[in-house]
Amino acid sequence: MARKVCKKCKIFVEKDKCSICGGNQFNDSWKGRITILNFEKSEIAGKMGITVNGEYVLKI
Ligand SMILES: [Zn+2]
Repeated sequence: MARKVCKKCKIFVEKDKCSICGGNQFNDSWKGRITILNFEKSEIAGKMGITVNGEYVLKI
């Protein structure tokens, strides 16, 4: 089963709601993934507007 991703935050969601925005709009069609361990020091996180550490997809 494909893992689902929040359409808005692009973070992987394990439960029924997104841990960041609380939304339930998911997508299971995505490409590439990245784990952000320290968003404050990550250039990619800055570009993507990520403000919470976690596992994200690059493209939905
Ligand atoms: Zn979200």
